[in-house]
Amino acid sequence: MQAVILAGGKGVRLRPLTYDLPKPLVKVGDKPILEHILLLLKKQGVTNIIICSGYLGQHIIDFCGDGSKFGLKITHSIEKSPLGTAGPLKDIEDSLEEDFFVIYGDIYLDMDLNKLMAYHKSKKSKATLVVHPSDHPHDSDVVVMDQGTQKIKDFLHKPGKEIKFQNLTSAAAYALNKSILSYISSGEPTDFGKDIFPKMAADEEPMFGYITDEFIKDAGTHDRLAYVSDYIHSDNKNQAWFLDRDGVINEEAGLITESSQLKLIPGSAEAIKKLNDRGFLVVIVTNQPQVARNLCTEEDVEKINARLVKEFEKEGARIDGVYYCPHHPETNHPDANDPKYRRPCECRKPGIGMLKQAEKEFKIDLKRSYMVGDRTADIKAGNSAGCTTIIVRTGFAGKDGKYEAVPDIEAEDLIEAVDKVLKRNKI
Ligand SMILES: [Mg+2]
Ligand SMILES: [Zn+2]
Repeated sequence: MQAVILAGGKGVRLRPLTYDLPKPLVKVGDKPILEHILLLLKKQGVTNIIICSGYLGQHIIDFCGDGSKFGLKITHSIEKSPLGTAGPLKDIEDSLEEDFFVIYGDIYLDMDLNKLMAYHKSKKSKATLVVHPSDHPHDSDVVVMDQGTQKIKDFLHKPGKEIKFQNLTSAAAYALNKSILSYISSGEPTDFGKDIFPKMAADEEPMFGYITDEFIKDAGTHDRLAYVSDYIHSDNKNQAWFLDRDGVINEEAGLITESSQLKLIPGSAEAIKKLNDRGFLVVIVTNQPQVARNLCTEEDVEKINARLVKEFEKEGARIDGVYYCPHHPETNHPDANDPKYRRPCECRKPGIGMLKQAEKEFKIDLKRSYMVGDRTADIKAGNSAGCTTIIVRTGFAGKDGKYEAVPDIEAEDLIEAVDKVLKRNKI
């Protein structure tokens, strides 16, 4: 298989790093971003590589050579004047295979390219665009697809503020068929996003979106570069949102002892769905001392939790794990009758036992994870575990006054919390 890497940009937004380095050679983690791309291609059996460069292109040739040091066959094409993103393809027309990948030289991706190519071929597609949800669609390229066939009906180049609901955007990696070259004229600057894809959509060409949750992110600004570096340093560990249960995803109703007392807080299913879409794990961590207080059994708590997971499932929202603490530390309490539960423990928040357990079982990076709660114990636990903490104004609204704990973020409810964070991280 073949891939064309577009490495011609000036990297203006990454200055000063790019004054004497082309953007693809800026390091992310311990290697240039281009090397990360080459290693992924090699791993997936994509060994025929053409790198199109321009600005400081000689550096790229010096770094890659003929590719033999990576176990790849690399050829180079350097544009004489800037040709945009699509223009350089015309120069290498004779070297292109029937179907090939195009990958921008400033993105970090961790995805299955063979699956993408199989999809592209099964659709007999001229252009298959990797698409993913974005919270900043107004300055991205927005893709409007037919929900059934995934055919791209419209392609909006940086549509501006009026875009509100449509949030699938193009992710700077494509599988293309050579026939697309009829849209590119020789020697003129031409862009995929600005010129080619909108025109192909208008012509009703077979152009499809490929939706994926896999990690694919551009590293073309300082913020995004830092975000990608974090991902690499985390050893590909998972990011989680730890959610307290009562008062965060279902209404606070005192000590819940049966599932009929569960009432979902509006927006919480939508919030969890958004987290699912962005690849976060969603894990409930809840204190359930009613077991220690002899108000119900562990089996009851498990039944209630199972019911809750099911309720969310019905709304299309997936909860990945549920941890609860059945204990209570006050041994001289009047209803303290079972030493198995009436004891200090590490799982009861503000302890971090449940978060530590999930960290191990789900391979979670706590530092890049979030803890949402309505009580100070939730915030204290999240802070101690190194998570970003969020207090919500539902349930106890953080007013229980039990612990000194300062949250990192405040939000009205879970959905606002999710929206705030996703926007802040420009994911
Ligand atoms: Mg609560
Ligand atoms: Zn416990």
